[in-house]
Amino acid sequence: MIWYPYAQMKTLAPPIKISSAKGVHLYTEDGHDLIDSVSSWWSVIHGYSHPEINEAIKEQVDNFSHVMLGGLTHEPVEKLSKKLEEWLPGDLDYCFFSDSGSVAVEVALKMALQFNTNRNSPRRTILALEHAYHGDTFKAMEVGDDEDYHFAFGKSNEKKQGVIHIPTEIPALEKAFSEYGDTLTCFIVEPLLQGAGGMRMYDISFLRRARELCDKYDVLLIFDEVATGFGRTGNRFVADLVLPDILVLGKALTGGYIGHAATIANRRVWEGFYSDDPTHALMHGPTFMGNALACTVALKSIELFEKGDYLTIIRKIEALAHRELDGFTSPEISDIRIMGGCICIEVRDGKYLEGFRQFAFEHGVFSRPFLKYMYTMPPYVISEEELLKIISTMKSWFMR
Ligand SMILES: *Cc1c(COP(=O)(O)O)cnc(C)c1O
Repeated sequence: MIWYPYAQMKTLAPPIKISSAKGVHLYTEDGHDLIDSVSSWWSVIHGYSHPEINEAIKEQVDNFSHVMLGGLTHEPVEKLSKKLEEWLPGDLDYCFFSDSGSVAVEVALKMALQFNTNRNSPRRTILALEHAYHGDTFKAMEVGDDEDYHFAFGKSNEKKQGVIHIPTEIPALEKAFSEYGDTLTCFIVEPLLQGAGGMRMYDISFLRRARELCDKYDVLLIFDEVATGFGRTGNRFVADLVLPDILVLGKALTGGYIGHAATIANRRVWEGFYSDDPTHALMHGPTFMGNALACTVALKSIELFEKGDYLTIIRKIEALAHRELDGFTSPEISDIRIMGGCICIEVRDGKYLEGFRQFAFEHGVFSRPFLKYMYTMPPYVISEEELLKIISTMKSWFMR
């Protein structure tokens, strides 16, 4: 029995069975052709079964698929860390690999906490955002601000020890720093776009102020760009605009081929661990960190991203979304938000979206709305015609 994600298994509608996938299309076992409007949880940026990625992975598989990084190393992982070092802004040069975004967030938080232990600082508090999502492992859940946590642990756990949540508003940010600044280890955010918390978008000025305050109060700034990285906000990385101390990448890192993630520290964080004292080492090591297939795919994915002028393509996606949705209204809609390759229609009552999945399916689109949010984060390789089909399917739901 497969236990499916985020689902009450007793009432779960049978999932759609996919037999093959190519470009932005999912082909079902019973002959349907669906455009994937969510890029398999926002990761498949180059589309499915990309010939160049397929070629690269086949070549690597015939050489070897995996060796552990404990005591061993290999060319794909060396090349990827070198590539990230060159490609990422500032001195974000020190790459710790892991197998998923959640684990990469755990590593980032562990780095921030131990950075302070190593310098004999008693700082332990973590600042995070309301509506944050950072993954489903324990510490990631704690810094997150998600209902699911209460499903599992009950409302009694409402006050999470050592984590403070604030809204994305500068006065709240300033207040938090003036009250707790001297006790904070780090401030973790999904920069500009909060994905699983409801495709919430906020202004860069908040992050600029956060950077200033983190400098002033000696607090590490962590960007969880698992969802926003690789162009989703219209920027290559939000870290190109405001530089964090630790950057977390996942999802699109491997173009949606294989689970892999990276926690990338700047020089100062690195130096906080670099010492003659063995207890200052970062004690972490996922079995599959630096997996050779994942690193090969990530390298190819980055190459395609550079070669393909993706930021221009994403600007076109954004412009088309504005053209189709600016001024679109319905009594059921409370907000429409567009940023880069993320397009979201928020409704007043989530019940209104019941049945939309089936409706989209019948229109040849795979969609997975959640709570009050109908959205698309398409693969960047989507054609104008295919994107129009997704958006017109979304609009048609309100015009039935
Ligand atoms: C998806 C996501 C994660 C978790 O990544 P997994 O690979 O699912 O563990 C963490 N942070 C953000 C912002 C995400 O969107």
